[in-house]
Amino acid sequence: MAKVLILSGAGISAESGIKTFRDSDGLWEEHDVGVVCNYDSMQKHKTITVEFYDKRRAELEFKEPNYAHKVVANLKKRYKKDIAVITQNVDNLFEKAGLGYDEVIHLHGFLSELRCQNYDCSLIFDIGYKSQKEFNGGLCPKCHTKLRPNIVFFGEQAPMYEELNRHIQDCSLFVVIGTSGNVIGVNTMAQFATRSILNNYEPSSAINDAYFSKVLYKKATEAIDEIEQEIESFLNCE
Ligand code: NAD
Repeated sequence: MAKVLILSGAGISAESGIKTFRDSDGLWEEHDVGVVCNYDSMQKHKTITVEFYDKRRAELEFKEPNYAHKVVANLKKRYKKDIAVITQNVDNLFEKAGLGYDEVIHLHGFLSELRCQNYDCSLIFDIGYKSQKEFNGGLCPKCHTKLRPNIVFFGEQAPMYEELNRHIQDCSLFVVIGTSGNVIGVNTMAQFATRSILNNYEPSSAINDAYFSKVLYKKATEAIDEIEQEIESFLNCE
């Protein structure tokens, strides 16, 4: 089990031009996220929901990983077994920075994938940057049921949380980058680890930074060198 857990959120991708949810110019300002990200979105607001994710997916083609993604990816490559990279993000910027699909755990799904809505089938398809319609008319090639974005909506089960829980119980250094803590309660998690680092652009009302050993309120690209040094000296002292 990894000694270091790096948990990221929308903030790590902000400097790559992907909007966060809750910042002042975030997606929450432009869209009713409660509509497009809810459990019953695909039933009650299907067109708006599919369009929302089609647009995000198309935009993703032109987004590039920033310095923070690249440093995290290099660390993971160097300390494969000792570092777990877990993200709430549905973008593919860690993958674009060089990590394999098995080297990043996506807690909330993956934008470039669709999933069959038939529970017994549940097949997942990588569609790259296409719209949902462009992929087999939006139908599952195997059982012909309608497809949906492979995104964990609010109120849905998130199977990868089991992985997160396993890692949090075993890690000694917990690093949080770019999350407001509204979806995942990082305060409690920080108390499991011997040492913890919090990096956000600004304080969040959902995070009590007194639980963290080190707090860096600055952009991820500006904080990442210090985070890298902390991780390396921690691992080299173990
Ligand atoms: P959030 O929008 O709630 O909070 C963003 C956090 O990032 C804030 O605390 C802010 O201070 C910080 N931040 C903003 N710019 C930063 C920067 N340059 N460097 C460091 N920190 C910065 O995001 P969240 O907590 O990840 O929210 C939860 C949900 O939003 C997740 O479920 C995620 O799936 C979804 N989401 C994902 C993406 C993506 O995939 N890139 C984008 C938007 C929302």
